[in-house]
Amino acid sequence: MEYQDSERATELAERAREFVDEVVIPRERELEGGTKVPDDVVADLREKAQSRNLYAPQIAEEHGGMGVDFRDVLPFFEEAGRSLLAPLAMRVDAPDQGNMHTLELAGTESQRERWLEPLVRGELTSAFSMTEPRQGGGADPKMIKTTAEKDGDEWVIDGHKWWTTNGGEADFFITLARTNQDAHPYGGCSLIIVPEGTPGLKIKRDIPHLGDDITSTVHSEIRFDGVRVPEENLLGAEDEGFTIAQKRLGPARLTHCMRYSGMADRALNVAKAYTSEREGFGGPIADKQGVRFEIAEAETNLHAARAMVRHAADEISRGNEARIEVSMCKYFTANVVEEAINTALQFCGASGLGKDLPIADFYENVRQFRIVDGPDEVHKRVIARNAYEDVDPEELGPLPTFGED
Ligand SMILES: Cc1cc2nc3c(=O)[nH]c(=O)nc-3n(C[C@H](O)[C@H](O)[C@H](O)COP(=O)(O)OP(=O)(O)OC[C@H]3O[C@@H](n4cnc5c(N)ncnc54)[C@H](O)[C@@H]3O)c2cc1C
Repeated sequence: MEYQDSERATELAERAREFVDEVVIPRERELEGGTKVPDDVVADLREKAQSRNLYAPQIAEEHGGMGVDFRDVLPFFEEAGRSLLAPLAMRVDAPDQGNMHTLELAGTESQRERWLEPLVRGELTSAFSMTEPRQGGGADPKMIKTTAEKDGDEWVIDGHKWWTTNGGEADFFITLARTNQDAHPYGGCSLIIVPEGTPGLKIKRDIPHLGDDITSTVHSEIRFDGVRVPEENLLGAEDEGFTIAQKRLGPARLTHCMRYSGMADRALNVAKAYTSEREGFGGPIADKQGVRFEIAEAETNLHAARAMVRHAADEISRGNEARIEVSMCKYFTANVVEEAINTALQFCGASGLGKDLPIADFYENVRQFRIVDGPDEVHKRVIARNAYEDVDPEELGPLPTFGED
């Protein structure tokens, strides 16, 4: 396996880092501790990213992106993750980035024209609506209760969703609904595009939550009451929603890992700067072994996470699903980035909790990563299922207590 990034990947990541340091972080510092980043600041940052050719690298050129190979784009995502504003600026922000990928994968030509290209340009914003309250789909997505039934040349959607990121602001919703009650639970769901403003689509509320950072991302509870959309709003084949969602989720989980390892990397750099300058007990705090060992552990874990992600991305680039490897990356990275950011916060003392530094926002934001895109336990379940697939009873050897009497 090649850990070394290609020349293209390195060059792109270096330019992204420069842009984040020179342009994005100064804007972020102005906003820290304040309210939502104004739309005109996002628009200005996007213009600047475009002028430096650092915009939507993951999207094909014909759709308005840069057409960079998935493996080569990962280090770019890590650089973008160093500021909460940078993914928005460089158009690699969730959930729009995952939705762009889904539209690229499964969209018809006219869907790409109508939804994908304006989304890439930043003229539209989108949501992916899957999770449901109560006995609906959550960690176990097979439990999806929202239905879509065909009536003439329309789909009629009924259901209740929540935690739909961007829900209160989205121009359209990629919605997962059950279209076939008789199929295997993983087989009978479809993705359907629902434009904002469609009668029957009601945003009930934006759910108050931990981590109201400068991006002020909303997560919404939504009702679909007899929502009618034309049949051509079906995204991909009927009943293939889970297959398409799975194709989206593999790469999306890896890009999430890289954004978060960028966040953890910056948090550690801030903590290293703080502890190098701050003195106590006869010298810089950075000289204490108790501090240095924890920084060493965090750096080691991040290095391991980056290597795992590159390996899984290599597999995906070769056309493999890499389901187990992706689960390992997602579970491992979510835990080590959370730990690294927690460590960084601790070593900055009260300033770690203050909003003069970015770490407090990172700390609040990172907690979600062990739950979204599949909670830790669900990924461990996938890994364990694979681990137990080919158990050989002979491996036990001649243990007398396990044998017949
Ligand atoms: C910030 C944020 C943004 C989100 N954005 C979106 C979005 O845009 N679109 C969308 O559709 N959803 C979104 N979600 C929802 C997210 O995908 C779900 O929270 C996640 O899939 C888990 O589902 P749940 O919350 O219903 O957990 P539940 O299904 O209620 O599970 C609760 C907990 O039970 C445990 N658990 C579950 N299964 C097992 C098991 N087999 N073994 C052991 N333990 C288990 C886990 O610890 C899990 O966290 C978002 C969530 C958050 C927090």
